[in-house]
Amino acid sequence: MREINTVDFENEVVNGGKVVVDFYSTECPPCEALAPKFEAMAELYGGKIKFLKVFRQGNRELATELGVSSSPTLLFFDNGKQITDSISGGIKKSEIQQRLDAMLSDDDVKTIKTNQKPIVSEYDVAILGGGPAGLTAGIYLGQAKIKTVLIDPALPGGYMGITHQVSNYPGFEQPQPGYMLAHYMSEQAKHTGIDFKVAVDITSVDLHKREIVIDELETIRAKKIIIATGTTPNTMNAPGEKEYKGKGISYCATCDAKYFVDKEVTVIGGGNSAVEEALFITKFASKVTMIHQFDKLTANQTAIEQLQANEKIKVMYEHEPRKFEKRGDKMVATLENLKTKKLEKLESDGVFVFIGFKSNVDVLGKNLPKMNSWGYILADEDMKTSIPDVFAIGDIISKKYRQITTAVADGTIAAITISKELN
Ligand SMILES: Cc1cc2nc3c(=O)[nH]c(=O)nc-3n(C[C@H](O)[C@H](O)[C@H](O)COP(=O)(O)OP(=O)(O)OC[C@H]3O[C@@H](n4cnc5c(N)ncnc54)[C@H](O)[C@@H]3O)c2cc1C
Repeated sequence: MREINTVDFENEVVNGGKVVVDFYSTECPPCEALAPKFEAMAELYGGKIKFLKVFRQGNRELATELGVSSSPTLLFFDNGKQITDSISGGIKKSEIQQRLDAMLSDDDVKTIKTNQKPIVSEYDVAILGGGPAGLTAGIYLGQAKIKTVLIDPALPGGYMGITHQVSNYPGFEQPQPGYMLAHYMSEQAKHTGIDFKVAVDITSVDLHKREIVIDELETIRAKKIIIATGTTPNTMNAPGEKEYKGKGISYCATCDAKYFVDKEVTVIGGGNSAVEEALFITKFASKVTMIHQFDKLTANQTAIEQLQANEKIKVMYEHEPRKFEKRGDKMVATLENLKTKKLEKLESDGVFVFIGFKSNVDVLGKNLPKMNSWGYILADEDMKTSIPDVFAIGDIISKKYRQITTAVADGTIAAITISKELN
């Protein structure tokens, strides 16, 4: 693996045979996450493919010419011709390997695979999930000099990292962009000396053996495991939903309703949380239109009565969203009337979706800790689960309020409990 610049490019890449180039930057957490994987791949495939690094800030023109607009970006060439799509951001080992394999013959791939050696690492604590809960546990454990690894299939930050503005996390006078809070927290955790294994594939988890396999090859054994894998919001699978998430479509009224003073808002859902959140939003918004798929709300009677008494809320029953678009500052939802099958448009200043979340327990293997009937893990006041030496924190546990502050609190409690047990 070598570093090259614009001058070397012609020789090394254009006339260079099979080449992979990593355009990286400094002060770039995803570049730091990629570096050890790129090095490991270079060791494995180095006999057949050339591995080169280009410092993007120092070679801007070359990067622009090649269409590289973010760091890190990997480009794959055969004699100067780009042969597969580039990859950027939180790059997984499997994504690189897939592209490298496609550049070689089946026999070469077979030989390389047989040279791959399994790795076993031992830790005191393995944290699964690098959202605010996992990062906080990491900060406390790192400061207590406990050998800890934080594992995440994505880059650290969790929901915080994709939240537009966070205005309720203490310590900041002004609302903070979520990605900055995520950056501060993960840098703080890294500085304590804990290991980060992020943008990895979680191959398997055995909570009873306290063994986690990542990228199919590396087994991580730990004395204690902390589960901090959070939740995934149920989605409507409507075009535009993904695109406008955090840019017109929100999943958190506590966080975002305050930005809708005297504005018109659309709320999707009809269960308890949708009704309660719609009532909360009316403290700010001038009008709330709820879209519900059934002919009756599914919330409890008290909530329904409160909603019926609130003049700002109108419910459109038997309607479902089919598409979301943006027109200027306005969100336009295309709704299907489920009775007549006709499509209609509803314009508002913002859309809130409350159709439930599901806990990210699927990856935790077969023998899960005890959970409530909605699939959230039961943890006691020390964040211990029903499995010895396995803790759970943050949004994944059965609790009433899911916020960054409550996730951070759970992480603190689990880490202090573990520090006392291990010392
Ligand atoms: C759109 C939105 C906006 C919000 N805004 C605010 C706000 O303004 N203020 C506020 O206080 N709260 C807000 N919240 C709530 C807050 O973000 C959450 O309560 C908080 O992030 C929970 O932290 P967590 O660490 O438990 O989980 P998460 O933040 O969900 O992080 C979980 C992490 O686990 C990782 N993971 C997933 N599966 C696995 C696996 N198998 N193995 C390992 N890791 C895994 C994920 O990649 C992720 O990094 C918002 C929530 C949403 C959805």
